[in-house]
Amino acid sequence: MRLAIVEDDDEVGDALVEVLTDQGFLAERMRRGADLLIGHRRCDAVILDLGLPDGDGLQVLRQLREVSSVPVVILTARDDERTVVRGLRGGADDYLVKPPRIAELVARLETVTRRAAVAAAGPEATVIITGDVRIDLEMRQVEVGGEPVTLTQKEFELVEALAERPGSAVSRELLMDRIWGDAFMAVSRSLDVHISTLRAKLGRPGLITTIRGFGYRWGQ
Ligand code: CA
Repeated sequence: MRLAIVEDDDEVGDALVEVLTDQGFLAERMRRGADLLIGHRRCDAVILDLGLPDGDGLQVLRQLREVSSVPVVILTARDDERTVVRGLRGGADDYLVKPPRIAELVARLETVTRRAAVAAAGPEATVIITGDVRIDLEMRQVEVGGEPVTLTQKEFELVEALAERPGSAVSRELLMDRIWGDAFMAVSRSLDVHISTLRAKLGRPGLITTIRGFGYRWGQ
C-alpha cells in the first residue's frame, strides 16, 4: 500500500517512514499540505499532521476532500475534542494522537483502506485478478494460468482475505480472527501451515509475501 506521510517534523516523519516501511507500506514523506494536494493520486492512504508549515491540516483536508476520497488518518499532538470532531467531520477517516502506537496505527490504516476498497469496488466486484491468478469470490474458485486450483475452505478464505487488498499488509491477528474466529489463541501455527500449503498450491513465488513480525501481503 502506498502511503503519504504528511509531517513537517523531520524526527517524527523519518521515524514514521522507517517503521511503516518495515511494516510493508510504501511510505512517501511529504512536508507540506500543498505536497499532498498535488501528490494525493500517488497514494492509497494518508497520515496527516495538523500543524503544517503552509497551513492548518484541517484546511488541507477540506481541500483534499473536494477532489479525493483517499483514506486519511489524522495524526497530531492536538487531542482536544473539538479538533478531533472537526477532523472527523472534515472528512478524516480516523484520528490518532501523537505519539502513536505503531500496531494501532497500522490496524487503523488497514481498517480505513479496507472500507475504502469495499466502497470503491461496490457489490459488483466479485473477481480479483493478480497477474495470472484469478479469484472468483462468488463461485469461490481460484485459477492460476487458466488452470483451476483446488483449495480447502480455509485456504480459500485466506486467499480472499489477502487478495481483497492487494499490496496491503494484513496482520496475522486479522487473518486468524477472520478465518478461525480467534485472533490470539493457539491457531497461530495453523496459519503458518495453511500459508505454506497455499503457496505450494498456487505455485507463484512472491505472490504472498511474509511481513516478519506482522503478517502477509498479497501481490506487489
Ligand atoms: Ca507539525
